[in-house]
Amino acid sequence: MNYQSLLIKYAEIGIKGKNRYLFEDALVKQIRFALKPIEGSFVVSKESGRIYANAEAPFELDDAVEALGRVFGISGICPMVQVDDLGFEALKDEVIRYLEQVYPKKDFTFKVNARRANKNYPMTSEEINCALGEAVLNAFPETKVDVHHPQVMLHVEIRSRINLYSQVIPGPGGMPVGTNGRAMLLLSGGIDSPVAGYMIAKRGVVIEAVYFHAPPYTSDRAKEKVVDLARLVARYAGPIKLHIVNFTDIQLYIYDQCPHEELTIIMRRYMMRIAEQIAQKEKCQALITGESIGQVASQTVQSLAATNEVCTMPVFRPVIGFDKQEIVDISEKIGTFETSIQPFEDCCTIFVAKHPVTKPNIHMIHRSEEKLAERIEEMVRTAVEGSEVVVCQ
Ligand code: ATP
Ligand code: MG
Repeated sequence: MNYQSLLIKYAEIGIKGKNRYLFEDALVKQIRFALKPIEGSFVVSKESGRIYANAEAPFELDDAVEALGRVFGISGICPMVQVDDLGFEALKDEVIRYLEQVYPKKDFTFKVNARRANKNYPMTSEEINCALGEAVLNAFPETKVDVHHPQVMLHVEIRSRINLYSQVIPGPGGMPVGTNGRAMLLLSGGIDSPVAGYMIAKRGVVIEAVYFHAPPYTSDRAKEKVVDLARLVARYAGPIKLHIVNFTDIQLYIYDQCPHEELTIIMRRYMMRIAEQIAQKEKCQALITGESIGQVASQTVQSLAATNEVCTMPVFRPVIGFDKQEIVDISEKIGTFETSIQPFEDCCTIFVAKHPVTKPNIHMIHRSEEKLAERIEEMVRTAVEGSEVVVCQ
């Protein structure tokens, strides 16, 4: 079947009242971006509550569907045929030709669902449904009408031209990126944080990312892996500005000055502080982490509270209540898993103590951090100012 157009359906953004056009415009923008590399020279337009992508050249349906499958805000993708209005007899022929090509086996149940935007059309929707239903039954006697649960719902939309479609390929849902603020993802090379970034982007949030690098304890390959992960998340979230912070001196200083069983918590507190400073500079309103309750010593509820204490911005932890396997399932679905499990050292694990505290005492943590007073502020400033930026897309 040679489709010329895709009708793109959206769900949640349809209920945004007066701001609806903002959501539609953001979605159109994301769709254009996603279809740009696909052959077909698509023209994307919106028209009374729906979005069309019309191809000006032949295109591969699978490629277009794959690209649109990563655009948040889309609930369904309908491959569509548009025909000129050359009278009802011609329309009948077009409908038969459409079903002939799209459904090689004809033993399906169906219903015709006609809608007239062009109220001058000489028949009512009901008359069109009946007449086309009859024409289909005559052409394909193996078919049956089922008005309640049809296998094929044939949509016939009478506008200046006539749209025919019957397939709805599910989209990813969510809201178009760019409609819900901006947040800074703490992106490590693990499984959880890319999933966390994906989940927040899915709600329409533009994301940036920060990675704490500790050369020579962590290699360039570890950094490359994080860039690769940011690129994979960017397939959904749009271009991601990744800030790479050199964390080595801070880590060594903490290692020298503080009790080793508190290292991870204190390190995590400095990560959050630095991430928040960069987030403020970049006009983000929130932070995102891949933390999940109880996964490791630094993610007990007490440890999370101790880490959280240093932030004033809200910290979004979308996988907080997920089991590891549930996070793995999403990472496989979105295509980050294979990269996440490549074995490169992580700056958190290098300095990790044999017996890290699992119930940190916040007063003791404060006292330990006082030992850093002499140099830490300047070190943090140096780390923030010296961060390297890579735009990942
Ligand atoms: P992940 O699989 O996301 O690496 P994890 O199970 O390894 O998570 P931790 O190492 O305790 O857990 O990290 C918890 C969260 O802290 C991560 O999900 C991430 O958001 C952030 N984080 C940890 N290490 C780094 C790092 N080197 N750079 C940036 N963020 C980090
Ligand atoms: Mg990690």
